[in-house]
Amino acid sequence: MSTTTKYNNPKTRRKLSLWEKLYLFEVVRGLLTTFKHLFRPKFTRQYPEERWDPPASFRGRPVLVLEENGVERCVACGLCSRVCPPLAIEVRASETELLKERYPVVFEINMLRCIFCGYCEEVCPEEAIIMSKDYELTFRDPSEGIFGKDKLLTPKAQLKDRLDYLAKMRN
Ligand code: SF4
Ligand code: SF4
Repeated sequence: MSTTTKYNNPKTRRKLSLWEKLYLFEVVRGLLTTFKHLFRPKFTRQYPEERWDPPASFRGRPVLVLEENGVERCVACGLCSRVCPPLAIEVRASETELLKERYPVVFEINMLRCIFCGYCEEVCPEEAIIMSKDYELTFRDPSEGIFGKDKLLTPKAQLKDRLDYLAKMRN
């Protein structure tokens, strides 16, 4: 049901002059606004040609830390899997001869479920799972969204920014 107001009632609506009907002034005003913005600092970038390097505080996809000696830090305690709100993490533990005694024989994150909350990073007692700077995730098939150790394990040197940031925030 339409309501009659003073703006759409033909009897009370204000008549526009010829000058107003031409909208010339408004067109010029719009062009001036556009022109003014040409010289202002730009907040957009030509992605993907111009990549963005996020700060250390950025929470990209979670990854597993791989030590310099080629051993993963994870001790397969399963805490990250328990706190993960969308149940995106699966950890299956096995025993190892190493001092840490346990390691994840299977560690998978379903990146289609991950909400980048960072709880896994927060709860991990070993700082073995941390948020990376990687924000580019595309899949052609849902099965490609399951990231195993082959995609998750990342050399410690590549994660220096985040590890330093975490050390600073936790001390
Ligand atoms: S960032 Fe959050 S949602 Fe993603 S795996 Fe970690 S706990 Fe789960
Ligand atoms: S990543 Fe951390 S919290 Fe998750 S199973 Fe490994 S050691 Fe435990």
